Formats: sequence, C-alpha cells, structure tokens
Amino acid sequence: MEAWEKSLRNCITSPEELAGLFHVQGEDVAQVVRRYPMRITPYYLGLIREPGDPIWRQCVPDPEELHDFVQSPDPLDEERLSPVPGLIHRYPDRVVFLVSTACAVYCRFCMRKRGVGCQGMSPAPVDEAVAYIAAHPEIRDVILSGGDPLLLSDERLEAILAALHRIPHVEIIRIGTRAPVTLPERITAKLTRMLKRYQPLYVNTHFNHPREVTEASAKACARLADAGIQLGNQSVLLKGVNDDPRVMRELMQRLLAIRVRPYYIHQMDLVQGTAHFRTRVADGMKVVAALRGHTSGLAVPHYVIDLPGGKGKVEVSSARFSADGSRLTVTNYLGEEIEYREV
Ligand SMILES: *Cc1c(COP(=O)(O)O)cnc(C)c1O
Ligand code: SF4
Repeated sequence: MEAWEKSLRNCITSPEELAGLFHVQGEDVAQVVRRYPMRITPYYLGLIREPGDPIWRQCVPDPEELHDFVQSPDPLDEERLSPVPGLIHRYPDRVVFLVSTACAVYCRFCMRKRGVGCQGMSPAPVDEAVAYIAAHPEIRDVILSGGDPLLLSDERLEAILAALHRIPHVEIIRIGTRAPVTLPERITAKLTRMLKRYQPLYVNTHFNHPREVTEASAKACARLADAGIQLGNQSVLLKGVNDDPRVMRELMQRLLAIRVRPYYIHQMDLVQGTAHFRTRVADGMKVVAALRGHTSGLAVPHYVIDLPGGKGKVEVSSARFSADGSRLTVTNYLGEEIEYREV
C-alpha cells in the first residue's frame, strides 16, 4: 500500500473519533454526517489550530448544514445537462467528466454535496462517457472532476486518460483536484511520471486559505510543475474562511510562490446545506478589488458566478446591480440577459 492510501485509511470519519479529539457534541455531528459524510485526512486535521478556525470550518460538520431550506441540491441543473451518466455537457466545446465520487476531505461547502461521498452515487461507467466524447467532435476539452479524480488508483486514472488521449479531437485534458491541499502525499513521483505522458494536461487545484499553503503542498505542486503541468487554482469565497481582502491577497501571493496561477474565485453556488458560508456579491467585489493593482496581475483571478439553471459562468465585473445591490443583471456567453438574486 502506498503512503497516501494509508493516510486515507487513517482519516477521521466518525463523530466519536472527532469528539475524542475536540470538544464537540458528538450527537450534533452524527446528525449531519448521516446526510453529508465527513472525512478528514490526518494531514488536513493537523492544519487546524483551534475549533472554528478557517481550516475547521471547511472540514468539520456544522449543524447549520441541516438548517438550509432555501437553496437547492442541484442549482446548476447538472443532472439535466447530463447526456450520459457522469458527463455534464453544458458548453459546446467542453465537458465535465465525473470520474470519482470520493474525496480525501469532504468539504462542507461542496457544490456537489448532493452526492459526493454519499452512498448511492456511483462513478460513471467510463466506456459510455468515452464513447459519447468520441462521437462528439466538437468536444475539444475534457475536465475530469468528481469527487476527486486523484482518489482513483494510478492505473484506473491512467486508463481514463489514455482513452481520452486516443480521441483525436480532444485537444486538452484538465484535472480538478484538491489532493495537493488535503492529501499532498498523493502527488507521488510515480503519479507525476504517469501524468506527464498525457500532455497537454492542466491541473486545477482548490486552495481557499493561506494556511493551506505548506511545505508539503508546495512540494506536491512543485512535482506537478516540474513535470510541465500547468497549475491553476479555483477558490470559493467562504464566510469565515477567506472573505477578507487581506486573507485573499495573501492566499493569491502564496499560490504564485508555489507556481500555482490563480484562475477563478467562485461566488458560492446556491447549494443546499451550504448557506452558512454565503457571502454577498458586493463583499466579494471588495475582496477582489483589493487585488488588482495592489499586487501582481498574475495574482488576480476571475471572480465568477456559475449561474443557476446551467446558464454558465459569468464575470461579476460585467454585472449591473439594482439600486439596493441585491439583484444583478448579467449577460451570459449566449447573449441571454439573466437576473441573479442574492439569497
Ligand atoms: C466550469 C465548467 C466548465 C469549465 O469552464 P471554464 O470556464 O472553461 O473553466 C465546463 N463545464 C461545466 C459544466 C462547468 O461547470
Ligand atoms: S474536494 Fe471538491 S468535490 Fe470533493 S468535497 Fe471538496 S469541493 Fe467537493
């Protein structure tokens, strides 16, 4: 067994284990995890300094998750936009391919909270998805996501990459993974050697707080970068984690220092069970305004909203606001005018 597989076995998954380490109400946690599972790697657990801190908030179940009745389990309509199981084909030239339903840490704010880590959501049958991509020459970009693709074994991941690589019209492959943040030991020399064979390959990772940038995560990113893999980062704006201009600026700067280029800051999707993380768009704009000009342009990602109903991502900077600031009008890539309301 490899070291990362051992780490996965040693994760905290039960309320009792958590209550043995911290002062938490085991029964409260138990109620949440019956609906939304918990998993915390030993490494990520070690980044917690005190209950309620930004690392804690991202990984420890909160009873608030069960008190969100306004938002929807699938606001982006991913299930409707799925032509075959596990594929989301929303944009003409690219697809998201959900290859895994597991993650090293189950983030409490996850946009696919409805299924990720839950029993009953099974990974897509690879053959059917690959056949769909092969039959659609307009697809030139395949984004592996999930769950976390890097929770697959090297062999299973390679089988998928190889099948996609053989399709002539697939020009690039992207992997979305939080492993460098939550399970850095996953980025082994063997994995990187394998990935290198499937260039052009882009890895988008998901750091949300400067304290996640550690020696271990820096080493993981350096390995990928040394293999010639372009590294990007997608952060989510989260209340009590990074909704502070100074924290976000420090995060962006630290990412550049470990060779990761900030790509997106996401406004939180309107996903059920995550309302306690929501920030207002106007506050997000302040966070982003503290970047441009104040630091390297390379440290300034696009601040985007993924519109409900699968209407696509739009840049917040292009939105027009109502007088009270609670409604935004945006124009998506199809030229449709869409109104977005804060909850
Ligand atoms: C975000 C997303 C993509 C990729 O968008 P980019 O802007 O190209 O990074 C593709 N498909 C779906 C369904 C998405 O949600
Ligand atoms: S790593 Fe990504 S997919 Fe997995 S729980 Fe976190 S946000 Fe969700």
